[in-house]
Amino acid sequence: MAKYSLFGHRDPARLAEAESVVVIGLGRFGSALALELMKSGTEVLGIDGDEEVVQLHNRLLTHVVRADSTKEATLRELSVPDFSSVVVAIGGDIQANILTASLLLKLGIPNIWAKAVSDPHGEILTQLGVHHVISPEKDMGQRVAHLVRGAMQDYIEIGENFALVKTAPPRSLIGMPLGEAKVRARYGVTVTAFHRPGRGWSYTSLDTVIEDGDIILIAGESARVEEYSLMR
Ligand code: ATP
Repeated sequence: MAKYSLFGHRDPARLAEAESVVVIGLGRFGSALALELMKSGTEVLGIDGDEEVVQLHNRLLTHVVRADSTKEATLRELSVPDFSSVVVAIGGDIQANILTASLLLKLGIPNIWAKAVSDPHGEILTQLGVHHVISPEKDMGQRVAHLVRGAMQDYIEIGENFALVKTAPPRSLIGMPLGEAKVRARYGVTVTAFHRPGRGWSYTSLDTVIEDGDIILIAGESARVEEYSLMR
């Protein structure tokens, strides 16, 4: 008797040849991640232990399987060892999350991403050797804190105290070529791109003149981009 049920138009072994990604756990996070990968043209093998969840993703992912990811034999039967990127998106069941991550390490997957639900959980995953430990709730909380505090429309911490921010331009920037505004020398930030209603996003040049109603994308040290986005 089969240990799992399968949906999809390609067998998992063939899928593994196509630089596809395995997403294990199709809850809110895993599902959003898998669907976004599909949207950007990456083929996805989704694995979940819940039949209803599997049915919900039928036809939305290249392949979707009901299986228990804590079983090594099952992962092998699904050709998971042939994939180069696997995401463990199981959250609630920490034991299943850690067991799955450790099996993937044993199988030699070169790029393992695993979701951590707490700092100690993240530490265990890091100690195991998981290549990318992600904490969606914590990261999103920190990101939203920056948005709530200021006038920013989006904030992305790139790492090592460097951030990208989408914000409305301060009045002092409007109507003057960027080359003359000397934003980098004065404020330590770089205006990298701008959005103009009806024209979309464009890269900036020294001749770009920011207009009222534009939105700018600035890069720089976290504190300085935040400070600049608060200027009106
Ligand atoms: P989210 O916040 O992303 O909705 P969550 O953090 O609450 O999810 P869970 O709901 O616990 O996480 O897990 C996500 C999915 O992982 C569920 O759909 C669940 O069926 C699946 N899952 C849990 N354990 C296993 C397992 N051992 N094998 C396969 N799938 C599993």
